[in-house]
Amino acid sequence: MTHKVAVFAGDGIGSEVIGEALEALKVVEKRFGLSFACERALAGGCSIDAHGVALTDSALRVAKESDAVLLGAVGGPQWDDPKSSVRPEQAILGLRKELGLFANLRPVQVSRHLINSSTLKPEVLEGVDLVVVRELTGGVYYGRPSERRTGAAGREAVDTIFYTEGEVARLMRTSFELARKRRKKLTSVDKANIMATSRMWREVAHEVAKEYSDVQYEDVLVDSMSMHLIRRPRDFDVIAAENMFGDILTDEASMLAGSMGLLPSASLGEGKRGLYEPIHGTAPDIAGQDKANPLAAILSTALMLRLSFDQEQAAQTIENAVDAVLASGYRTADIAQPECRLVGCKEMGRLVREKLQQ
Ligand code: NAD
Repeated sequence: MTHKVAVFAGDGIGSEVIGEALEALKVVEKRFGLSFACERALAGGCSIDAHGVALTDSALRVAKESDAVLLGAVGGPQWDDPKSSVRPEQAILGLRKELGLFANLRPVQVSRHLINSSTLKPEVLEGVDLVVVRELTGGVYYGRPSERRTGAAGREAVDTIFYTEGEVARLMRTSFELARKRRKKLTSVDKANIMATSRMWREVAHEVAKEYSDVQYEDVLVDSMSMHLIRRPRDFDVIAAENMFGDILTDEASMLAGSMGLLPSASLGEGKRGLYEPIHGTAPDIAGQDKANPLAAILSTALMLRLSFDQEQAAQTIENAVDAVLASGYRTADIAQPECRLVGCKEMGRLVREKLQQ
């Protein structure tokens, strides 16, 4: 069976890190007897330059006809005019909407080889292995009304958080399914003591939980969660949260691991197809200098293998190869430590391939 992968390298360091990710995938393809058909298309600023829009219909078709999408990152100062009606980010929003991707997964693992470079104490970080599942297409980011106006008391502003039970149920199912494949623990985050949407969120979450009696389930208020996440992060496995709570908690969680250059993410919908990308942006300050850390992009292919293609062993092989390279002391500049072996993007990619072949 051939897996079709749509590849959007994007802008800035996107093509550098995705280049290394694709090379790693080739090694895995051979080693595990898999077959990938990768088709490249433009998204973001490069598409604006070539076609005048961030995502063309034909590029979208490539994504829709694929089994998984691999994305670098989009954007950069040259397309930053706030008055422009075409913006690179429209490509990502378009892909999410058109592919129905409502759950954003951000796994956070703390490498024992990098544990001392975090701002948190090693004993807090030892063994951390969690995933935040953020609802991606609802909540305050899409609720209407969202506006400023003038009332009797002067300036007023309103935002709206709106969820349907169906939106909550599908996010919870994705989270439970994931927990089932991991350590079978799910923490649902809400603010049910204050918010009506959170009370419904909790109600629906409890209903879905009955279908997953093998998964240990708990509710935690978001304010407590922000504290527990840095006090006892090891206790969490899968954390499910609505859009804004998830947005805040994923950034907090990413700091457990240290660098953005290490963290992959997946956006999933109802089926098996997902969009996989590093959490970092296009890093214009280092683009084209062979300084980017390709590990987040390489680890994104591991997520793709695990979540879209059910190739757990191949996914773990990539993760182990990355771990082995870090164990050997090789570091890109973003994660450099005293006395490390400093390497560039290409060399880091080559080192991972070398480990993958062993
Ligand atoms: P950024 O993530 O691109 O960079 C922040 C800092 O982290 C920079 O100093 C950069 O050099 C460093 N960095 C990021 N990734 C790295 C890597 N792999 N290796 C080494 N260092 C790395 O965030 P930013 O500077 O706020 O944004 C730059 C552009 O990227 C903007 O146009 C923004 O809109 C875009 N962006 C895109 C996405 C996306 O496509 N998903 C996400 C975030 C930002």
